[in-house]
Amino acid sequence: MAELTSSKTIDLLKTLSSEAKEKISAAKLAVDVEQVRVSYFGKKGFISEVLASLKNFNAEARKEIGQVSNQVREELESLLSQKKAELETRELDQKLLKDQLDPTAPGVFYPRGELHPIRKVLREAVQIFEKAGLTPAYGPEVEYENYCFDKLNFKPGHAARDMQATFFVKNQGTERLVLRTHTSPVQVRILLKAAQNNFELPIRVQIPGRVYRVDDDSTHAPMFHQIEGLAVDRTATMGDLRAVLDYFFRNFFDEKTKIRFRPSFFPFTEPSAEVDASCVFCKGSGCKVCKQSGWLEVAGAGLVHPEVFDLCGWDSKSVQGWAFGLGIERLAMLKLGIPDLRLFFENRLSFLRAAQK
Ligand SMILES: [Zn+2]
Repeated sequence: MAELTSSKTIDLLKTLSSEAKEKISAAKLAVDVEQVRVSYFGKKGFISEVLASLKNFNAEARKEIGQVSNQVREELESLLSQKKAELETRELDQKLLKDQLDPTAPGVFYPRGELHPIRKVLREAVQIFEKAGLTPAYGPEVEYENYCFDKLNFKPGHAARDMQATFFVKNQGTERLVLRTHTSPVQVRILLKAAQNNFELPIRVQIPGRVYRVDDDSTHAPMFHQIEGLAVDRTATMGDLRAVLDYFFRNFFDEKTKIRFRPSFFPFTEPSAEVDASCVFCKGSGCKVCKQSGWLEVAGAGLVHPEVFDLCGWDSKSVQGWAFGLGIERLAMLKLGIPDLRLFFENRLSFLRAAQK
């Protein structure tokens, strides 16, 4: 374009401008307008190419051409955006007209989601124990075998350590890892931590969570939920323990629920007790569920075994504690009157809906 004079270039700009104007006014769609913009002002557009040749002119010519090109650009740009807005509005109107809303059509019904019944029962239990002064605490589900058994005074060869009952995960160095078979290793973690923390007392916690055992029938599942309580202080009594459980079961079932302790054995408590609650179905008069006894087994409990304190770095002569453990699925079955534990895990919606209180 070096041979162009400034007047020829100005004429060319004007020609391009009127051409562009025609194209703009002929555009039918917003996308056509955009195409016009690109073909004139884009990197390789006609007008851009003319302006790119400006370096071949002297200063005066550049000034003249520059003025005209500015005018042309401003004019075209305003036409382009005007036309584009106009077409876009029209296109939207047409679209709205086509997709007309029918306000008489029935709405789409989305059912409301609900928490799983086990989750609800677990939350309810946590809330009641919170009112009894126990703060929730948590720990990992993949646990050291040492915390899951040894530090809880399970002697080597104890039945619960058998491969039949425990899912072994893998070894981490010399430590064996297991899926925890109960929430009690969290007690170990809490005792170890408090021991490091200058033996800080009192400890009053509840530990809700999932646990795992190699077990699967109408009353056992390979994964289930427990909640357990731990209170540690200079002194602790079975009486305090009983008061907390009594409070829990009266709130969880109903005000008339009674509990009783029967002597039992657990490696990590001494003395140990099985806890029964008066049958929620027959109110104690005897039925099929309670096998005519009027009582239902609902928890295990006891005073923390001195060995456990010693194994966790405490001096068992200067500290006492109580602990209990409940199975959430068992409580849910009793509370909701559900005979087979597996129903909770099959996740049939009809069952889950019926189990909502
Ligand atoms: Zn009964």
